[in-house]
Amino acid sequence: MDTKQVEEVSTPFITSSTSHSNKPTLLLKLITSMSLISAIIFSLLFFSLSEPTTTSRPLKKLPHPVVILISSDGFRFGYQFKTPTPNIHRLITNGTEAITGLIPVFPTLTFPNHYSIVTGLYPPHHGIINNFFYDPITGDKFTMASHQSKWWLGQPLWETVVNNGLSAATYFWPGSEVIKGSWTCPDEFCKHYNGSVHFEDRVDSVLDYFDLPVDQIPVFMTLYFEDPDHQGHQVGPDDDEVTQAVSRIDGIIGRLINGLEKKGFFDDVTIIMVGDHGMVATCDQKLVFLDDLASWVEIKTNWVHSYTPLLAIWPPSNYSYADVVAKMNEGLSSGKVENGNKLKVFLKEDLPERLHYADSDRIPPIIGLVHEGYKVEQSRTGNKECGGAHGYDNEFFSMRTIFIGHGPQFARGKKVPSFENVEIYNLITSILNIKGAPNNGSDSFSQSVLLPNA
Ligand SMILES: [Zn+2]
Repeated sequence: MDTKQVEEVSTPFITSSTSHSNKPTLLLKLITSMSLISAIIFSLLFFSLSEPTTTSRPLKKLPHPVVILISSDGFRFGYQFKTPTPNIHRLITNGTEAITGLIPVFPTLTFPNHYSIVTGLYPPHHGIINNFFYDPITGDKFTMASHQSKWWLGQPLWETVVNNGLSAATYFWPGSEVIKGSWTCPDEFCKHYNGSVHFEDRVDSVLDYFDLPVDQIPVFMTLYFEDPDHQGHQVGPDDDEVTQAVSRIDGIIGRLINGLEKKGFFDDVTIIMVGDHGMVATCDQKLVFLDDLASWVEIKTNWVHSYTPLLAIWPPSNYSYADVVAKMNEGLSSGKVENGNKLKVFLKEDLPERLHYADSDRIPPIIGLVHEGYKVEQSRTGNKECGGAHGYDNEFFSMRTIFIGHGPQFARGKKVPSFENVEIYNLITSILNIKGAPNNGSDSFSQSVLLPNA
């Protein structure tokens, strides 16, 4: 919009002020016109300040865009302000950030979220509905060490990349070791999970890929770090140990940046740094005990597939699930159960739609939502522990994590509104300019975040 348009808009104002008819209408017109003009001037100013009219920056050394997707597990939104994090802030300042954090999918657990990030699918669609669960037909148990392809639905980014005739490299990511479709988990580009590998070694291995001839450098790479999730669980998000872990992650990001700079690729490479979920403090006076519901309905331990924060219950099929839910909620709301008002149970199909947590026969029929920071246990143990947990409703701000994008297609210093992590799949296929699989992300998202092509 240019100044000519502003003048055109202001014309009615001049006309009205010279007219001598009907004074209240004139005043109204005057106010309306003035606010319209201020709105236009303000928006002109706002857009000129916030939206640099730049296009994506051309690649200098690489023949094709390269994306490094980094996950720092349990990096709650806000941790970046706990302590000086100069390297993470370098990415934020010169890149694009979700201004109030990245929204995880429900349940806000590690495996469901990591796999949503790389497939763009909500958990019922990608199949990893919890960190552990049962196949309702065979009774087989999924654990975080299950690598059979039958569990892992959807098309993860590494497979998409290979489908497009390009190569990908995974240095740990849930699902990356699963041989599926065109993805063979090749020895040279697919590391088998081993939590004892030092973070520095993981970064150095990824940097080594940049010593390959440029046309052989994988175009998509993952890096995964277990911290600060590990410390968050042990001691809660506000403990000094978490602060130290955040500082260490910042150092690791610095190692990656410096390595890429030395090799002359930093400006060409796209770095996307995310977490999978946040963390909230828990303490053992904030508990709900299922045994306290015995006067209404007896919940047997072998019905409970997971306790907390995601309560998932699968009674035998001769029980009416609706009846179990009704009796549990009757007890919880009776005022006679300790912290009963902090838990509500649902038939999965009655959960709020926004949670996207019904459309899979792997999801147990009864799901409980517990208030932030509360935990569900079977019975009193007398333990008095404080720590941290995640897995709660993704509406809680404490469950949010970070999103930072830095690279040729991200505007410098841009802030975007918070978004759900299922958008990341389309974002990465757009950056790589490859064809992706259908998913739950929106088509327009990448356009709203990325710079237009030069
Ligand atoms: Zn996690």
